[in-house]
Amino acid sequence: MSDRAVVVGSGPNGLVAAVALAAAGREVVLLEAAERFGGGLRSEELTLPGRVHDVGATVMALALASPAFRELGVQRLVEFAHPPVAVAHPLDDRPAVLVHRDARRTAEGLGADGAAWRASLGAAARAGLPLTDLLLKPLGPWSGSPRAFASAAAFGLAGLAPATTFARRVFRTPEARAAFAGLAAHSMLDLRAPLSGAYGLMLGTLAHLVGWPLVRGGSQVLADALVARLRELGGEAVTGHRVRRLADLGDAGTVVLDVTPRQFLAMADLPPAYRRRLRRYRYGPAVFKMDWALDGPVPWRDPAVASAGTVHLGGTLEEIALSEAEMARGRHSPRPYVLLVQPYAADPTRGGPTLWAYCHVPHGSPVDMTAAIEAQIERYAPGFRDRVLARHAMGPAALEAFDANLVGGDIGGGLASLAQFARRPVWSPAPWRTPLPGVFLCSAATPPGAGTHGMGGWQAARLALRAS
Ligand SMILES: Cc1cc2nc3c(=O)[nH]c(=O)nc-3n(C[C@H](O)[C@H](O)[C@H](O)COP(=O)(O)OP(=O)(O)OC[C@H]3O[C@@H](n4cnc5c(N)ncnc54)[C@H](O)[C@@H]3O)c2cc1C
Repeated sequence: MSDRAVVVGSGPNGLVAAVALAAAGREVVLLEAAERFGGGLRSEELTLPGRVHDVGATVMALALASPAFRELGVQRLVEFAHPPVAVAHPLDDRPAVLVHRDARRTAEGLGADGAAWRASLGAAARAGLPLTDLLLKPLGPWSGSPRAFASAAAFGLAGLAPATTFARRVFRTPEARAAFAGLAAHSMLDLRAPLSGAYGLMLGTLAHLVGWPLVRGGSQVLADALVARLRELGGEAVTGHRVRRLADLGDAGTVVLDVTPRQFLAMADLPPAYRRRLRRYRYGPAVFKMDWALDGPVPWRDPAVASAGTVHLGGTLEEIALSEAEMARGRHSPRPYVLLVQPYAADPTRGGPTLWAYCHVPHGSPVDMTAAIEAQIERYAPGFRDRVLARHAMGPAALEAFDANLVGGDIGGGLASLAQFARRPVWSPAPWRTPLPGVFLCSAATPPGAGTHGMGGWQAARLALRAS
């Protein structure tokens, strides 16, 4: 079999696969459709010259926790910058809830729910990386201790519950319930859906375990560092090369595809049974994303919010649950849950204060959510619009044009439902493998799903190396 390995797509999963294969001695060629490497790690001057905006991911909690990135020595490749506060959750008539890296400090701010926070998210964080390793390698080789396995089982059982149920069962105060809803809503699920609680638990646990840092200089720095590592190992990396058919790849013993099922279906002649299974794969809701160049920090009513890297807007658990339920029903909430990131809280090197935020919208939605998003920011930061020097908006169509994996604007690579947790993209103990010999999938449409952890690439590379 040829030693040549072709990796298609340079998102975090494709990059990890390419570096892992090259490190194992394969002759690797990485082909990227866009003019820049990185996929969801790309940064661009979206507003004004010199202003660095992360088009996709900024928060690197998963990269720090990921066994794949740890194995690659990611902390030696780039500099991670931690904001003083991981997450802030402003509320209308009281101080914002602050999620610190320190679970005890977070609990101190939660009054009557401090003990419950420590006993749930704090305890999961105390179980440490062995727990998150098990969660990020749901079908991989499990090397954790029995204690980590027990923590993962307890975590899994608690996380199976809908976020609304978990929040009401575990917390009594509106503050803690709201903060948990803000974390769980990253799932893009109806918060009454099973498994939505697991996302809140996982993201809160990561805040206390590794923090929610960002990459100094922009996420592109991480993509470029991984490309440099690949080249050091003798690999080749090419931009502006969209792969349309696998048959065009020439002689390759291994092909790793950082693409989602819809693209794979268009690329290859697959056995009918597998085709049918891939066609059943469901994409999820979309986002409407905005970036701003500001002339100064956001004027938050509660000044403590200024120290947070990430801010969750949308009010109480009930309000956020309503907004996400509307979205799941195909409607646009007039007061949407807004996930906002202010990189300047940790990184002064981006050419001035930049900000991004998105809200969830139905799959493929053409609706412009600019006014609704800015109104939610103004609600907690009156005078925000006066700070805006330039704005840039991307709805689902623009996001898909930017990166073909963002099908219909779904930034998760497919619905994050309970059914698709196990069937991603097909039900199999090794879903990265395809029926085509030597061909593997590695995108966020494979376990463990969305995020900058590179674990899909790591698993695909591991299987490819074992297969030959
Ligand atoms: C707005 C936004 C904000 C986000 N925020 C965060 C965050 O803060 N933290 C976090 O952990 N995650 C975040 N994410 C999610 C994260 O970016 C993704 O889950 C992650 O990038 C998925 O990695 P991937 O390698 O599977 O695919 P992608 O990063 O989507 O990369 C796929 C790559 O493949 C290329 N490609 C596709 N088809 C072809 C083809 N036919 N030929 C050649 N190349 C092809 C694409 O151009 C792209 O470069 C965010 C995503 C978005 C869009």
